[in-house]
Amino acid sequence: TSVKTNTETIAAVATPPGRGALGILRLSGPKAAHIAEQIAGTLPKARQAALRHFRDPHGTVIDQGLLLYFPGPNSFTGEDVVELQGHGGPVLLDLLLRSVCALGARVARPGEFSERAFLNNRIDLAQAEAIADLIDAASAQAARAASRSLDGEFSKRIHALVDELIQLRVFIEGALDFSDEDIDWLADDKLRTRLATLIEHLHTLITQAARGRRLREGITVTLTGQPNVGKSTLLNRLAGSDAAIVTEIAGTTRDVLRENIVLDDLPLTVVDTAGLRESDDPVEREGIRRAWAALAQAEIALYLVDDRVGITPEDQALLRQLPTQLKVLVIANKCDLSGHPPNTATSHDYELIRLSAADGAGMELLTEAIKRIAGVTDNAEGIFSARTRHVDALRRALAFSQDAQARLLEGVTPELAAEELRLAQEALAEITGQFSSDDLLGKIFSQFCIGK
Ligand code: GDP
Ligand code: ZN
Repeated sequence: TSVKTNTETIAAVATPPGRGALGILRLSGPKAAHIAEQIAGTLPKARQAALRHFRDPHGTVIDQGLLLYFPGPNSFTGEDVVELQGHGGPVLLDLLLRSVCALGARVARPGEFSERAFLNNRIDLAQAEAIADLIDAASAQAARAASRSLDGEFSKRIHALVDELIQLRVFIEGALDFSDEDIDWLADDKLRTRLATLIEHLHTLITQAARGRRLREGITVTLTGQPNVGKSTLLNRLAGSDAAIVTEIAGTTRDVLRENIVLDDLPLTVVDTAGLRESDDPVEREGIRRAWAALAQAEIALYLVDDRVGITPEDQALLRQLPTQLKVLVIANKCDLSGHPPNTATSHDYELIRLSAADGAGMELLTEAIKRIAGVTDNAEGIFSARTRHVDALRRALAFSQDAQARLLEGVTPELAAEELRLAQEALAEITGQFSSDDLLGKIFSQFCIGK
């Protein structure tokens, strides 16, 4: 990455809008120190706080508070950074921001501080994203995961894979240069073993990144089954509110209803759908078509049956039609009516959970099962945060590496194996931002909050 030297000094209020005990204004750039001196007087020593009056450009005192100075390049952004920590009044902070802008700073774009930190090689792209994820974390576990990524745990794994890819490329390209000699370097078992190990590591990392992504982006759970089995009741139970209309009339839920909830630290999008059955009503038929569409998008399907009836032949036929990517849990609902206690069992090769959506009995069994399927049980150690774009890049790297493996095994076009490995390396480099377009960077940083 080329280091871009910014000539502009940026400023932003780093604390949230509204009133609070403290309000912090942050400056970064070549003029940060000079502007701060005009506002707050002599700068304290690096990384030490000093109490100062803050004045507007006419010399009128606006506020008093702490002045901190972080000289570059060892600051967050890599540039000179100054923090003015005053009182958290929106009018005060606005005056302060106007004052620094009158003295030559400009208002920062969302994420611009982090963007500069990235461009000045203070953090890589995955770490910059982890900062945003830490701020946005919807649960304690998600926050811990983001903090691990910020520490560089995810990036370290990527760097290790990139290093190995480079070495393999060097080896193959070197071997090609000596190809007219007697020894066939490319037939060497060591090379194949190393590539196989690399592929294994990619698989593991994809699984881990997918877990981290679920903590951040959640997992989609679709409720399905025949009409009147209690799908809408279960949605309301999960959401803790009356989001869906529950009636005794079969076919009430006609559209697809989505609720975003946090189930024991795991963000979920729960989708309630129309009951699957033959219908002459065009509206209901459209609802059923949408139900199938929702199933195609989901990761987990909860297939409900009435516990008094169990899994019928119709249910078995419908279960067999579910898209193969789905993890299916059969929910034997209304156990309050069947008289069976809540439990987990296996039926017709499906994992079955017996519960009552109406009175909530057995809901903890469902929570546990969903978290287990998502791979985010409480004892799942070492999860780091990740995003869809990371998982996609890892999958591309895996596909290229597997192609390289195939080329090597065929032994016909080993020069293409080296090229596939180069592409795999490039895909991984997108994650840490060593290889990324300005478009991508703009997209990532614009989603940050102001002042970060
Ligand atoms: P859906 O068509 O699958 O969405 O089913 P609903 O959620 O609309 O429920 C259909 C009927 O079953 C309603 O009268 C609910 O009150 C009732 N019901 C749903 N779950 C339970 C349950 O666990 N126990 C009992 N006793 N009734 C339930
Ligand atoms: Zn319903």
